[in-house]
Amino acid sequence: MPKPLNQFLHDQLEAAFGHVRIVNAGQTSVVGETTYFDRQRKLCRGVGVRPGQSSEEYEVNCPFHPDTGKHLRINYRWGDLLPESRFLNLHPAYCFHGCIDSIEKRKQLFAMVFPDGAIAREVKLPAIPPKQADASPPPKPTLPAGCVPVDQLPLNHPACRYLASRGFNPHAIAKSRWLRYCEFSERGIIVPRIVIPCFKLVPHPEHMYRLAEKELAGWQARLIGPPPYEDTPKYRFPRGMEKSKLIYGAEKAIRTTGPVVLVEGVVDAWKIGEHGMAILGKTLSSIQCGRFVAAFFARPVLVMLDEDATDAAEKIVNAITAARRGLRDSAPVLSIRPPHGRKDPGEASSAELQTIVTKALRKYEAGE
Ligand SMILES: [Zn+2]
Repeated sequence: MPKPLNQFLHDQLEAAFGHVRIVNAGQTSVVGETTYFDRQRKLCRGVGVRPGQSSEEYEVNCPFHPDTGKHLRINYRWGDLLPESRFLNLHPAYCFHGCIDSIEKRKQLFAMVFPDGAIAREVKLPAIPPKQADASPPPKPTLPAGCVPVDQLPLNHPACRYLASRGFNPHAIAKSRWLRYCEFSERGIIVPRIVIPCFKLVPHPEHMYRLAEKELAGWQARLIGPPPYEDTPKYRFPRGMEKSKLIYGAEKAIRTTGPVVLVEGVVDAWKIGEHGMAILGKTLSSIQCGRFVAAFFARPVLVMLDEDATDAAEKIVNAITAARRGLRDSAPVLSIRPPHGRKDPGEASSAELQTIVTKALRKYEAGE
């Protein structure tokens, strides 16, 4: 574990709130233009450390709300004296529940962390226990029992036949996407499904997404063959899987260079190839968006949802563009449509999709 950039602050936080998690270890931050709330809770512009901009931060359980998930983030330069000022820099501290919303709260926080300081003598602390235990981490997901790798099944097996019917070389796609065949027992009936593992990116503590590792985050199990009972779900997911936080295929796309393509479903992503990622629906949650812009900094993005989802695609383009503006990342974010006559990218061939992507980027570069 690397040494914290601000060992003193780190130790004070540990003493006040218990365990401290370091994020963006070793990344120094820029003092520059930032926004903050003034005494009247009015949003102001000024000079200070910009919070949440991939510099080293300390995560602790927030003392202002019942918290076991370390929702309070404090920049390593929090509490510094501002340049040419007699004020302490109390702005780069942020609770994801919005607890730190006034200068009083900021001072209270400072008083909790530095109980011997002058500020501690002038503020009244709220009656909330400052130390809260961490929740035990959720169990790591595993694949369902009895899974068989699809690339070890004969080509006339229903799982291989399904993949072939969608236009794939069954063994090749199964191998590259770690596909499994599994027979689920649902309402007393054996239901054959293809299990598609979903991974998440775990950023390296120092090198972030440049050396990210992949970790199993869940799976989806797609029905193959006709539905065996009324309202058989087409997909099944493990309990507790947070689909709206995952971007399917990110572990492959992060190893590529150049543009990436966001699509709705896993089959669409397979068709795009290693640059394709599925958002598992038609909307991009703020968590997906935040992780995406951090991991795919400065890479052109094309959003290709199903033919009927032009408005949804536009919303995603706007969300990514706005998030990137905050990071001063001006790489193109474009919405493109599936090939003419295709309902979704999964119905098209990889070659057709490649042509559309290349064309859209060329058009963009030509300023059209
Ligand atoms: Zn809070």
